[in-house]
Amino acid sequence: MTSVVEVPAAEAAEPTAADWAAAVAAVRGGQAGGTVLLVCHVNPDGDALGSMLGVALGLRRLGITQLQATFPGATAGATGGGYAGPPEVPEPFRWLPGLDLVVPADSAYPAPDLFLCFDAASASRLGALADRLDTAGAAVVLDHHASNTRFGGIHLVDPGAAATSVVAEGLLSRLEVPLDAEIAQCLYVALATDTGSFRFDMTTPAVHEMAARLIATGISPGEISRRIFDTRPFGAVRLYGDVLQRAQLEPDAAGGVGLVWTYATLDDLARHGQKAYVLEALIDSVRCAAEADVSCVIKQVGPAEWAVSMRSKGAVDVSRVAVALGGGGHRLAAGFTGRGTVDDVIGAIRAEL
Ligand code: AMP
Ligand code: MN
Ligand code: MN
Repeated sequence: MTSVVEVPAAEAAEPTAADWAAAVAAVRGGQAGGTVLLVCHVNPDGDALGSMLGVALGLRRLGITQLQATFPGATAGATGGGYAGPPEVPEPFRWLPGLDLVVPADSAYPAPDLFLCFDAASASRLGALADRLDTAGAAVVLDHHASNTRFGGIHLVDPGAAATSVVAEGLLSRLEVPLDAEIAQCLYVALATDTGSFRFDMTTPAVHEMAARLIATGISPGEISRRIFDTRPFGAVRLYGDVLQRAQLEPDAAGGVGLVWTYATLDDLARHGQKAYVLEALIDSVRCAAEADVSCVIKQVGPAEWAVSMRSKGAVDVSRVAVALGGGGHRLAAGFTGRGTVDDVIGAIRAEL
């Protein structure tokens, strides 16, 4: 097996004291009565939602009242209730504290005094909400992607952080917001999601120390894990059967380290009565194939549009592949939006590998 040593890049620039001071000053300005808008990346995952909601709750504790959170395409049904189209909060996260602060994307403050965005490596991940980078009084970017394009005014971007929630906790502590159980639930979901439940190599001592601070507020890691990782409709179990059945192994691909991949169509989802979010964990069932370093899941989102997830065990930098194909991510976990047929998408990946 390939040895995997993913040490957080020592040369990667962390936020400086001046960056932190600028972010704190911007939030203190927001406390003076302005409007504050928090946005996380499109198709939000646990880190995007958890970081955003954890900070949103912290800002509420600071007395900020004109406070909204949202994400690209968020609809009126985003926080629960009736189904309101694809861009909604995925079911596993519907219980998160702070969801009451989420508004539909088209009702978000058009020119907030303060704008904060979470877990987005580039402005394009903010969809139409990226215009707030220009209209807002101040824009703070909280992120941990090495591929971050350094958009926005104030950069809290730490490529050595395991999750954006590490950066979020750093901001809350500098704002002297004490961790409570609600904030901790949000930040824990974010941390557990991006570390693969504390399995990945970026699970440093600092990550476990942060987890300890969060758990010390009285939250239940077992209950949270069950909700976000281990609960899925029965139809999704059957759907995984279909999709894993058609997985393909290409031992010679990627310069000989091997590629394993599969795809899921909108028809697969419809046949089993499932929503797209159930496919988020599919890559974890594919990437375990020992014969391949690189794994890939191609998920249909439109007639000729595919959300592509890629993982590497260490021999290949999949973020390089994803960036080359218009996406982004980390060395061992990355993604992009593919166009055309499944064959077009996998062909483009093979060529980049
Ligand atoms: P996923 O496979 O969806 O879990 O995503 C893995 C990583 O790739 C995450 O860090 C994402 O931020 C990044 N990523 C996924 N899709 C895209 C995309 N379309 N554009 C940029 N980055 C992406
Ligand atoms: Mn994310
Ligand atoms: Mn993240």
